[in-house]
Amino acid sequence: MRRRLACLILLALASCAPAAPLQPAIIVSATARSSATPALTRTLPTLVPSASPSPAAAGTAAAPVQTPSPTPVCGAGWCSVTGHFFLQAPIAGSYGEQVDPTYRYSSTDGGQRVPHTGVEFQAPEGETVRAAGDGQVLQAGENTGSRFASLGEEYGNLVIIRHQFAAWPEPIYTLYGHLSRVDVSAGDWVEAGQQIGRVGDTGIATGPHLHFEVRVGAQLLTQNPELWLLPSVQPGGERDGAIAGRVVDQDGKLLEMHDIDLKRQADPGNPAPLPVYLQSYATTSLPVDAAWNENFAAGNLVPGVYRITTIIDGQLDARDVTVFPGRLTLVDFGPGAGPTSSDGE
Ligand SMILES: [Zn+2]
Repeated sequence: MRRRLACLILLALASCAPAAPLQPAIIVSATARSSATPALTRTLPTLVPSASPSPAAAGTAAAPVQTPSPTPVCGAGWCSVTGHFFLQAPIAGSYGEQVDPTYRYSSTDGGQRVPHTGVEFQAPEGETVRAAGDGQVLQAGENTGSRFASLGEEYGNLVIIRHQFAAWPEPIYTLYGHLSRVDVSAGDWVEAGQQIGRVGDTGIATGPHLHFEVRVGAQLLTQNPELWLLPSVQPGGERDGAIAGRVVDQDGKLLEMHDIDLKRQADPGNPAPLPVYLQSYATTSLPVDAAWNENFAAGNLVPGVYRITTIIDGQLDARDVTVFPGRLTLVDFGPGAGPTSSDGE
């Protein structure tokens, strides 16, 4: 795996945005998480293949992907749902189309760091950083003087914006770290896409990049930003989709730091797409999405049929799922996830 250079750390165990100082505030039990947003329930327990799945749910055909209806479309062990993609990429253009795939949310960079509390956008010094949504600036500049001050100085110059979306019961916070320049002040109202600063390497970072976090509610629970960012639009005009799920052992226990491969079926006449390599979250104590309860996720996936594989106790487990444009595919996966793990084999 490529060594990630932008976030090399001066402290032995700190990440570029360390989780450790946050833990008293953000580690909650599953019960506490679910009580924080009682209106939202996990969709996956209903992941029973429907009696009459849509044609798209067949899963193995390389047929053109069609956008399903707003209601869930389910196949063998997966469902495609409407995500809560309320945020837009904080960096425009090609730099904003993909988070650093080697250091996703919860990654420990191969066990070298505490779990990552956000994602990275690799971009050069001075690249414009934009508000991910409409909201009010809570903090701008050095990380002092607010309840976020407990996060420490590792973020360098940062901006924190508070958002309130009609479709979500709690405030959403976005955080932009390591900025070389801050262009807004606390109290400012900003619109999605508005310039709020510039990429830099302030704080604990040895190279310029944007550290981006999404936090939810009064407890400031970290979330996987890939489940909140609206997937990108491809040059052909089609929007990407996303996947979230859980990989579990035969007892249904979540597997930590477990390798998961996603391979999209090639379009006829085209070479096979490059696989996407994921790893399940490093710890079950890191907050996860109250709606999805995932332990792995990836955004900005080209729509199509994906074969997801993992090896559990020496056994290859594979399943085919469909990713639709602008939607989220949920999948429970592994020998304890239900009767469908060998479907398609
Ligand atoms: Zn980071």
